[in-house]
Amino acid sequence: MTTIHFEAVPAVEAHRRTPGLVVMKFGGTSVGDTDKLKRVAKRLVAAREAGSKVVAVLSAMGKTTDELIRLAHEVSEQPHPREYDMLVSTGERISNALCAMAIHDLGHEAVSFTGSQAGIVTDGSHTKAKIVEVRAQRIHTALEEDKIVLVAGFQGVSTSTHDVTTLGRGGSDTTAVALAAALGADACEIFTDVPGVFTADPRIVPTALKLDRVTYEEMLEMSASGAKVMALRSIEVARSYGVKLRVRSTFAEGEGTWIGEEDDVVLEKAIISGVTHDTSEAKVSIIGVPDRPGIAAKVFRDLARAGVNIDMIVQNVSQDGAASITFTLPKTDVPIAEPILDSLGAELGASRIERDPDIAKISLIGAGMKSHPGVAADMFDALAEAGINIEIISTSSIRVSCVVRADQVERAVQAVHDRFQGFAQARVDG
Ligand code: ADP
Ligand code: ASP
Ligand code: MG
Repeated sequence: MTTIHFEAVPAVEAHRRTPGLVVMKFGGTSVGDTDKLKRVAKRLVAAREAGSKVVAVLSAMGKTTDELIRLAHEVSEQPHPREYDMLVSTGERISNALCAMAIHDLGHEAVSFTGSQAGIVTDGSHTKAKIVEVRAQRIHTALEEDKIVLVAGFQGVSTSTHDVTTLGRGGSDTTAVALAAALGADACEIFTDVPGVFTADPRIVPTALKLDRVTYEEMLEMSASGAKVMALRSIEVARSYGVKLRVRSTFAEGEGTWIGEEDDVVLEKAIISGVTHDTSEAKVSIIGVPDRPGIAAKVFRDLARAGVNIDMIVQNVSQDGAASITFTLPKTDVPIAEPILDSLGAELGASRIERDPDIAKISLIGAGMKSHPGVAADMFDALAEAGINIEIISTSSIRVSCVVRADQVERAVQAVHDRFQGFAQARVDG
């Protein structure tokens, strides 16, 4: 029996290894049409014929998820979360079932499972559920029957309500990593439309360099600050369970990027691992609230209770006993935050509340920053030289982030990447 628990507590049963098992995840572009699906089927069959046991996790085809979300908003301003999950989880059913059919035609046995059938058990928070357990018995049985197993990514079933849940955008990465952990796979391979993890989004910075190795810590910061090549939660799970990950191209040969434990060789050279950007957040300012203990606690407690994820926070120095609190939050959480902000504004006697969706965050990540003073100053200087104004700054020990105007973000990423190109090159050469 393989049961693994994914919350803060350690696994209650040691998960058994499945020697020779590989989990292979293919993203939306990789399964964008039926020809591509047939190519993925061939690849899975080739891995099986080479002797591996194969569990595949496929995303929905191309832009299917975007299209389903668009439909939901066409019929409802704020789609009911349970029904939203019922709807958007269907995209992955389509791609996985089609791929299983294509595998049958290649003369191999395959079976596709929904998240629920695969035993992906989550908490009950629709649209951003967390995997709490994987009950992998059905997958084990299918593998023992010599089948290639396909699991619909990005979805599970709630323990409390038995309803279908989804894991948030990019959630198929998390499905793949959780399965690799629960099944004790040899490796988890993430096939996507770029050859690996780069020092910046290669679609914005053509001179960005592919990294051969990235530590969990660096990848966590990169994902958290917008590098959507890997979903944040998938890296948290990989780190907790020591799942070795490889990001590589579906369309070209190559080593890709390995993501794993810290390693001295990487760290010594890791002054900078990348520049990331994120346009998915909005900024809110509560202007003119009383400057006394308990105000910030009240604001952020009320927002947290509603499940709103707050990212950067600044409180300015008070003037005449009144302060302003500014923070960023995901644009998708704004509709949930709106009524809370209105009642907070009235309750606290704020002079006004400003909403600003036209912002972007740019971040510089690097484990070696800790021991190299001046990195932040160089970043601010590069932005200043490009004539880009910084609205908010926040830092962690291995990250510096700045909020800028959304329409300047691509220029900002290029300017900062140019400034640190030498460090990036040194790391890749090393
Ligand atoms: P998939 O559909 O395969 O899950 P995603 O679109 O979620 O693919 O992620 C891959 C995309 O991530 C790439 O096409 C690239 O534009 C973007 N990306 C952003 N930052 C990076 C980075 N630092 N390295 C590689 N890709 C990045
Ligand atoms: N199909 C989902 C999305 O587009 C999940 C995924 O692809 O990882 O977000
Ligand atoms: Mg993705």
